[in-house]
Amino acid sequence: MFVVALRKDTFSAYPTEVILDEDLFQLPFADISLDRRAELRKDTKLLEREWRDSASLLLLVAGKNNVLVRPEGGLHWRSPTELSSELPEDAIFLGVTESEESLFALADVDPSLMGSHEEAVFCSLRDIALSLDAFEQSAAALAVALATWHQQAPYCPHCGQLTRPSEAGHVRRCAGCDATIFPRSDAAVIMLVSDGDRCVLGRRIGSANGRWSTLAGFVEAGESPEAALCREVFEEVGLRVDGLRYRGSQPWPFPSSLMLAYEAHAPYGDLRGNEEHHEVRWFTREELRRGYADGSLGVPSTLSAGGHLIRDWLERGVDN
Ligand SMILES: [Zn+2]
Repeated sequence: MFVVALRKDTFSAYPTEVILDEDLFQLPFADISLDRRAELRKDTKLLEREWRDSASLLLLVAGKNNVLVRPEGGLHWRSPTELSSELPEDAIFLGVTESEESLFALADVDPSLMGSHEEAVFCSLRDIALSLDAFEQSAAALAVALATWHQQAPYCPHCGQLTRPSEAGHVRRCAGCDATIFPRSDAAVIMLVSDGDRCVLGRRIGSANGRWSTLAGFVEAGESPEAALCREVFEEVGLRVDGLRYRGSQPWPFPSSLMLAYEAHAPYGDLRGNEEHHEVRWFTREELRRGYADGSLGVPSTLSAGGHLIRDWLERGVDN
């Protein structure tokens, strides 16, 4: 259940506020207040006017994940016409703010076009996301997700011809067969498995020493998230789970995942390792608290759903 309050204007069906069920996390990048205004994406004339409107705002993206930020924190929004007097073909229309300012993004920006804003710097969205408010997190996530997709989708998957951006950067169209190609989101499950008193964490190959994470994996073709969860837990640690509980979702635009967070129950038992982890093991709450306090375990970040799952499990229970 969630409570929705509709905006009073006639243009948007987006709610001004969504109160999630108390079981669900409010996760970074998942804020709903960015009104994407999808119906305007084909209206090039209107978007050209919005591009030239002095109230409109432009976010610059460089490389795959880097967004322009202010030294004092927050995204460094520019006036679109500082970069180009006309709406560029590859401009991305992100949507509008609550005060109806149009938001655009432009990727692969030439640093020489930075003009007099040298004090602003490009930073990885992963590194600075927690310093942004919920609205800017979601706007930047959309910009980065689409910028990355445009870099990776130059050719038509049907006929191999070049594709061009269309519909304000939300689709690409093939010059050869006129196919419309949409960006994709790859669903993945991330899950905290516990027996009530202990939870299963893994030290993933390639991650920092001391960093223990929840289990996670991609949903395969023709598979539900719940089936993927059961399969992944069995493949990664050899446990059979039940009592699945959905805890929320989060776009993860590095490059194109949609994370679906769950808790699941499994009886305490021996774990079987796998090639994705250096080690997997059970932790009691006391072991986690002690490890976070003395620095032997990396404190889980509040950026990812996995960090929220671990923190919530710690806060909800006490060791016997
Ligand atoms: Zn084609």
